Amino acid sequence: MAERYEMIVGLEVHVELKTETKIFCSCPTIFGAEPNTQCCPVCMGLPGALPTLNRRVVEYAIKAGLATNCRIARQTGLDRKNYFYPDLPKAYQISQYDRPLCYGGWLDIESGGEKKRIGITRIHIEEDAGKLIHDGERGTMIDCNRCGVPLIEIVSEPDIRSAQEAKLYLKKLRSLMLYAGVSDCKMNEGSLRCDVNISVRPVGSSELGERCEIKNLNSFAFAAKAIEYEFERQTALLERGERLTRETRRFDASSGKTYAMRSKESAEDYRYFPEPDLPPLTVSEETVARLANELPRLPDLRAEEYISKYSLSEYDSEIITSDMALADYFEAAVRTSAYPKLLANILISEILGRVEQEDFYCPISPENLAEIADMSGEGLINSSTAKKLIKRLWLSDEPPREVVMREELFQINDREALTEAILAVIRADARVVADYKSGRTVAAKSVVGRVMSATGGRANPALLGELTQEILKSQ
Ligand code: ZN
Ligand code: MN
Repeated sequence: MAERYEMIVGLEVHVELKTETKIFCSCPTIFGAEPNTQCCPVCMGLPGALPTLNRRVVEYAIKAGLATNCRIARQTGLDRKNYFYPDLPKAYQISQYDRPLCYGGWLDIESGGEKKRIGITRIHIEEDAGKLIHDGERGTMIDCNRCGVPLIEIVSEPDIRSAQEAKLYLKKLRSLMLYAGVSDCKMNEGSLRCDVNISVRPVGSSELGERCEIKNLNSFAFAAKAIEYEFERQTALLERGERLTRETRRFDASSGKTYAMRSKESAEDYRYFPEPDLPPLTVSEETVARLANELPRLPDLRAEEYISKYSLSEYDSEIITSDMALADYFEAAVRTSAYPKLLANILISEILGRVEQEDFYCPISPENLAEIADMSGEGLINSSTAKKLIKRLWLSDEPPREVVMREELFQINDREALTEAILAVIRADARVVADYKSGRTVAAKSVVGRVMSATGGRANPALLGELTQEILKSQ
């Protein structure tokens, strides 16, 4: 059944900007502060209080737009979106309606070895609402600390066709926001939250089906699960000949299902109008140029460079550029290395596995890791010694070449020495030769293993394998 339908998915992502103060007042925005200790008459919407737009919010939003190939509006402004909800003491949110600050952008994802471009309809600035705290004994309370925390809302085109693509889009978007330096993007603290718009239609149809919106998904995995569940639910309804209703749903992580919350409001319900307490917003050419200048080199550009300059694979370049700290680390290391590909391999296979948190860090200096790659490239050490060195430097960093010299960890490339070691193993255990001759090739592996342990893991593995075969055959 699933093959006869396709899903049409667009994402709305709210990203909390990492300004020190709120969007319209000077209250601080520190996460996790005591409830209601970071608010004032402006962000609580008390009568007569007037907002002042935080310049930094506009700058961050423009940087986010530039990082996602958007055009930047020169003349725009803020709008009032009216709705009543207990976490919104003003009963309206200052947002942008038909004049978003950034529009017409895109980002590329890499799905199954193929590049796919996902359009970005718009990025607008707005304020966050407060937070309701539900307490079994005391009832529901409101924390106004989050009222007026600056957000950008990034709306994608409905270009996404699978849960996997949605995940890749979110990952790329998060990475770009981190590169742009506009948010810490901590999903567990709610600084990046995602709403999914999804509809289904028979394959080949060009009409759009009725869509549902799933609100506030705070992890990539939940977004993917919600999409998969919703696709199943909607196609099953259509198969039964039922009609879908446009509605807002929520995702329950424990059951993996979505549940209807309310029928979807339309724009008219919000009675948008230009915010009367704020002047129009003008963005100058110079401002945009200055902000573009402040952006670091972005991941796509870096990946191209790694492929052309260092012959890295597309796959490896993609992994390394997915995190700016990791890309910066690689670039610092590669400056001192003669073996960029080996360096990339070691970084991906040996270092990334040790990084437990979401964002990259490495206690080994880039120069020292480059030295390990170079010693491997030169054949001075083998891969098992490289692994041991990494394990050791991870706990206490020092120049690895000195360790290798001091402790004589050189790879044994000497044919005679290795031949001697192999013969010693065979002499001590004649059975391996008989086993080998009777066709049991594992016998060779056991010889290699025993020589490796006799040499403290320092034998050149390729040479050792080759010599072992030769000697076993000639016995
Ligand atoms: Zn305030
Ligand atoms: Mn919004």
